[in-house]
Amino acid sequence: MSNQHLLTNELTELDKKHFIHPTSSIKEQQENGPAVILKEGHGVYVTDINGKTYIEGMASLWNVNVGYGRKELAQAAKEQMEQLAFSSCFATFSNEPAIRLAAKLAEITPGDLSAVFFTSGGSESNDTAYKLVRHYWKLKGYPNKTKIISRKKAYHGVAIGATSATGIQDFQNMTTALAPEFIHADTFSADSVREIIEREGAENIAAFLAEPIQGAGGVNIPPDGYFQAIRKICDENNILFIADEVITGFGRTGKMFACEHWNVVPDVMLIAKGITSGYIPLGAVVLREKLHRDLIQLSEGTLLHGFTYSGHPTACAVALRNIQIIEEENLVENARLMGEELHKQLKMLQSELPIVGEVRSLGLIGALEIVKNKQTNERFEKKLAPIIIHEARQRGLILRTVTFGDADTIVFSPPLVINKQEIEKMFQILRDSIIAVMNDE
Ligand code: PLP
Repeated sequence: MSNQHLLTNELTELDKKHFIHPTSSIKEQQENGPAVILKEGHGVYVTDINGKTYIEGMASLWNVNVGYGRKELAQAAKEQMEQLAFSSCFATFSNEPAIRLAAKLAEITPGDLSAVFFTSGGSESNDTAYKLVRHYWKLKGYPNKTKIISRKKAYHGVAIGATSATGIQDFQNMTTALAPEFIHADTFSADSVREIIEREGAENIAAFLAEPIQGAGGVNIPPDGYFQAIRKICDENNILFIADEVITGFGRTGKMFACEHWNVVPDVMLIAKGITSGYIPLGAVVLREKLHRDLIQLSEGTLLHGFTYSGHPTACAVALRNIQIIEEENLVENARLMGEELHKQLKMLQSELPIVGEVRSLGLIGALEIVKNKQTNERFEKKLAPIIIHEARQRGLILRTVTFGDADTIVFSPPLVINKQEIEKMFQILRDSIIAVMNDE
């Protein structure tokens, strides 16, 4: 047996015995071991321990925006670690990377979003925001404003609050005793939000929470006018608008933040993922200036909410360098331009292949539906998207599916550094994979 085989076998056995994978099938892992053991990455490509190379069509989990193998980010982490790897920001201690990153986020987020609370990821940003908006209303003299309206098919993470806000039933079914006070509106219906406000009473509602484009729920893109209507409803009813830009932030949709497509400024913006392109964990909650001013005025004593790693200097130093790369290399504009290519390719697949139904995308986030009948949108009894992406992986392309409910969807979210040839290659592999699966069925 070659050394390579020995290594694969050793790692597979250790993985099965000791590693509980996030969001994955424990049974399948025990039966088959890890699907791929990755070793390195450069640009849009990743390579496994056997030397097989793949296009990372999802930028891993929608987050490696500047692509793999960025020595600048490694350098930023190294320099900060050597200087001051970590120091807590509790009790008003501070550090330069956290201060400069907060100021940079104030500069690049839309409108008067300007005050930043740091977390280590998207779920922490969500749970932090739920607590902060309720804290805010309590200080303002409205302790009953506690309910949060989120939406069906929403994904906000896996902390207990974030799971409760999530509108994908399977995630909620995983556990019991979810957090109370979350209500799910229909995905793109402003009327549904109005009805909930009427039923529950605006005096009991703290916030409306939405991803500008739903990611894990299937890349659902709102119609024009929806978020403008939501902003108006929130203003009229004294309800705060929280935008979860964890996936859509930092250029993914062809704007720095997706809210900008509809000229809407949320009261609270949640970010993570692309803030460091995944090179190190970091998230943030960004508040509008007015909220911040009110908090300053009304607060007494200590704000009893903070993570050990809120304002982690090394994570913040990497984020600053990452944002600099996004700006210097015009990656937001590249996402817009390459997004047009991606959309063209999706449309071509739709016109060429009988089982590709609806396609949708904005910038470098997209999806296609697998259907049995394009006219009626009837689905296959057995879901084909997972079989197709398995086939694509054999052929050197990593993608993900959404298969909740009756969805049979393939989603796309490549690194923002992708070029036209790489998009064409990605879609050629996908086309071949769909045809191979169609011929087998
Ligand atoms: N919010 C959105 C919109 C997400 O897509 C995700 C993760 O995919 C989260 C929150 C949770 O982020 P994390 O996995 O970093 O906790």
